[in-house]
Amino acid sequence: MKKCIICEDPAEFSIKGSSEFYCKDCAEEHFSSLDMLEKL
Ligand SMILES: [Zn+2]
Repeated sequence: MKKCIICEDPAEFSIKGSSEFYCKDCAEEHFSSLDMLEKL
């Protein structure tokens, strides 16, 4: 299971082309658009 790099909750998204993972809350907080993220 991937973990959010910020809060360590289970991750739902990753940045395309990167190994940074985010949960939904942190992804929405840190990115104005989820377009650059892909759902795991
Ligand atoms: Zn998080």
